[in-house]
Amino acid sequence: MACPFCNPKESGNTIIAENEYAYVIHDKHPIVEGHLLVIPKRHYETIVEMDEKTLCGTMLLVREMEKRLMERVGVKGLTLRQNWHPFLKEDELVVRHVHFHIIPREYNDKMASGIERIELSNIKKNEIAKKLR
Ligand SMILES: [Zn+2]
Repeated sequence: MACPFCNPKESGNTIIAENEYAYVIHDKHPIVEGHLLVIPKRHYETIVEMDEKTLCGTMLLVREMEKRLMERVGVKGLTLRQNWHPFLKEDELVVRHVHFHIIPREYNDKMASGIERIELSNIKKNEIAKKLR
């Protein structure tokens, strides 16, 4: 199957904004109004694979779109999300081309519920931090 994010126009998407490295479209299955995807023009499966120029260029477009959502659309808050779910089976919601979700937020919206926080001991925190240093 051809990658829909490598061929956004052929996939029926309207490009809202772009720069040299990335472009912006509406999410096909938005959580809320203004839910955008910022997608690098080169195909990468994960953020880890992205070269620095593409990553920086993509993040500059993320920043610009967040700014426009707040200034021009009146969005009060935002969540920036990048999913990587290699354990999920292929379906129309899984595109193996890295992308960033910009999701407008409101106080006490539906994204605020449904995620339970866990208690993490200092021992476990130190164990994880030691692996990351
Ligand atoms: Zn692709």
